[in-house]
Amino acid sequence: MPTFYIEQFGCRATQADGAAIERQLREQGCQLASHSHAADVVVLNTCTVTAAADTQARDAIRKLHAANPSTRIIVTGCYAQRAPEELAILPGVSFVVGNSHKPQIPNLLQSISLMPPVGAQHAAPHLAPLPQISGSHDIAKILTGDIFDLSEVLVAPVLGGEGNHTRPTLKIQDGCNARCSFCVIPFVRGKSRSLPPEKVVAEIQRLADSGYREIVLSGINLGAYGRDFSPRVAFFDLLRRILDETPVERLRVSSIEPLDVSLSFIDLIASSERLAPHFHMPLQSASDRILAAMHRWYRAEHYARRVELIHERLPHAAIGADVITGFPGETEADHAATLRFIAERPFTYLHVFSYSQRPGTKAVALPNRVPGSVIKRRARELRALAETKSAEFRAAQIGRTLRVLTLRRDPKDDPSLTPALSENYLSVQLPLRLPPNQLLAASVTRTEGKNLCALPLEPVLAASAAG
Ligand code: SF4
Repeated sequence: MPTFYIEQFGCRATQADGAAIERQLREQGCQLASHSHAADVVVLNTCTVTAAADTQARDAIRKLHAANPSTRIIVTGCYAQRAPEELAILPGVSFVVGNSHKPQIPNLLQSISLMPPVGAQHAAPHLAPLPQISGSHDIAKILTGDIFDLSEVLVAPVLGGEGNHTRPTLKIQDGCNARCSFCVIPFVRGKSRSLPPEKVVAEIQRLADSGYREIVLSGINLGAYGRDFSPRVAFFDLLRRILDETPVERLRVSSIEPLDVSLSFIDLIASSERLAPHFHMPLQSASDRILAAMHRWYRAEHYARRVELIHERLPHAAIGADVITGFPGETEADHAATLRFIAERPFTYLHVFSYSQRPGTKAVALPNRVPGSVIKRRARELRALAETKSAEFRAAQIGRTLRVLTLRRDPKDDPSLTPALSENYLSVQLPLRLPPNQLLAASVTRTEGKNLCALPLEPVLAASAAG
């Protein structure tokens, strides 16, 4: 069997898909190479959320091929689903596999092992060849289909169990039934679908049994979890079931739409130390006019109410948001409204995105595009504000006791320190050498750059299996 390597791009959900592919390939007997240059086959798992993500994927393919022209490249993920022809013509690419056909990647590795060397004619008789396009290389085979036909979440969607991370991500939901006017995701991931609750519980049990202390639940639109079942299953009920039926010590919800953050959801998080007090709610804009043009279904006041409720019950919770700047028609007044909204509320971090036109989305046809230089300046202003808010939040932690999970040390890091992550999503440095995957109480003494410095308050346990 050929050796393989997976190059990951994009969000946690896409990365969880990559981890699932890795697991399937290992189960089939393929060996993971230490680096892309050493692999017979590289699976490039792409994102297409912005034009920059597309460029990054094409550049990565060119680099891979230049570094090792004999490597077979399989391109998959959201870009492969959206525009397979753009990728199929790139040198070195053997297959372009859309999200609709991801489960077939293990079979492709088998067929690749039977193929003649690169440069000879490809032989995959079950696939229709594309018309030849002029150039010196073969043209890749494309496998894509109607993404809206997909009804199952990718099998075994765990990121971390195989990827050697300390905090595995379990993807429990895929696709989206909303149609935000800027967003290409529903067209590349299909309709919303969920992993059945018993499978979620079994996966979490398996991860907890392997020694993992913190598990991150992710999805494309997590609050839509279970609405595809009959009878429906509420995400809230799933969380309760996980707490009741598994021993997981810390569960973190990766991102959830603001209207899915109900009072009972906030109360549930506030009621259990096993649920991380961390709310990541996409805001996108605080101008109601722009929210309407984006086809977002809440207005600034609805979002503000959620933030208030969270802050009342959990004053030290992490509250993060995605913000898009430069959406068509966004005026200086709209931008100022977003800045003001954020400045006045206890956000602890922001992810700022510059609007990027995505083919096939409604926003493409909107007039009054914002010039690139204006988008850049607005993004800078939002990021500066985000940094001020984050610094204030960090400073407010001095003297508090946080429950931190020690992380794997990067070889470049100071060997006398141990990085850790707090329940409220802050980077912490502990002044001693500890193995990863220890969950312990630590007292915050000061801030240093973007980190907190803290002293452990309890004896350190032996490294667990996952460490
Ligand atoms: S909720 Fe909107 S932004 Fe999020 S994935 Fe669905 S369409 Fe895209």
